[in-house]
Amino acid sequence: MTAKIIDGNDIARRVRAEWKHRVDALRDQGVRPGLAVIIVGDNPASQVYVRHKTKACADIGIHSEKHEFPQGTPEQAVLDLIARLNENTAIHGILVQLPLPPQFDSRRVLEAIAVEKDVDGFNLYNVGALVAGDTVFPPCTPFGVQCMLEYSNIPISGQNVVVVGASNIVGKPMAMMLMKKDATVCITHIKTRDLAQFTILADILVVAAGKPMLITAPMVKTGAVVIDVGINRLPDGRLVGDVDFDAIREKASYISPVPGGVGPMTVTMLLVNTIQSAERFAANRDAAKRVMAG
Ligand code: NAD
Repeated sequence: MTAKIIDGNDIARRVRAEWKHRVDALRDQGVRPGLAVIIVGDNPASQVYVRHKTKACADIGIHSEKHEFPQGTPEQAVLDLIARLNENTAIHGILVQLPLPPQFDSRRVLEAIAVEKDVDGFNLYNVGALVAGDTVFPPCTPFGVQCMLEYSNIPISGQNVVVVGASNIVGKPMAMMLMKKDATVCITHIKTRDLAQFTILADILVVAAGKPMLITAPMVKTGAVVIDVGINRLPDGRLVGDVDFDAIREKASYISPVPGGVGPMTVTMLLVNTIQSAERFAANRDAAKRVMAG
């Protein structure tokens, strides 16, 4: 068996084309979706991610503004900016690029973002709402994985899903989202004993550990769907995921590559969340106008 490749670039293009229409429809109502990105310090990877995000916004017609602070910035300066952005009606999404420098309490900063502008979905309300069954903003990376499965017509309901990695950003929300789609989900992590005994049961295996070659072919069931979220830079400069792509490709039914898999979907879902937020803003504004008009 040779797996079909789940082409994240292609799906991202299709999703963005669909959502571009919704940006156009908003423009006709006098609303341009707006995203504010806050970046503190000079982490090179963060700089690259922010560049990708602002370019993607420009391409689809979202207004984006980058707020950059030097490494030594006190937390209060960022909290003050977030407070202003929360009140700014031209901004529908606020994103704080992680990681923040050590003098920051990341949790406190993320909690300062208004729930209705938390397009990354990291605010505790959004996390809790995800657990309770629904959320305003699904976190972008797992949302992107779900979208890849749906666009590839891969059934989720009733499937055995194994998620490798239990971070707040990827693993945990991924598990919640697929459980909500009626999958039977198992989460594994660094302390899991004999990882293979779990991964071998997966109809859908989502790997987000940040360890090159963590998942080898014998750990994967024949015909499984394998989604590789990992991004690792090897000493020779190559970018790879967490799975042995070449060997698993001969065993799985579907596999997502790195690069060109989950990465482009993460940015795409940020656009989707921002556009949806602007749509909610427009709907509330129109409802308020109707009330005022009696
Ligand atoms: P993290 O370091 O916060 O969490 C990693 C998780 O993997 C932890 O729960 C840890 O227990 C688990 N883990 C580590 N080694 C393991 C092992 N040997 N066996 C089983 N579990 C193990 O990382 P993260 O932020 O969740 O990111 C994970 C990977 O996904 C990284 O490579 C990151 O770069 C990548 N990532 C990609 C995107 C994207 O858009 N494609 C987005 C976010 C993260």
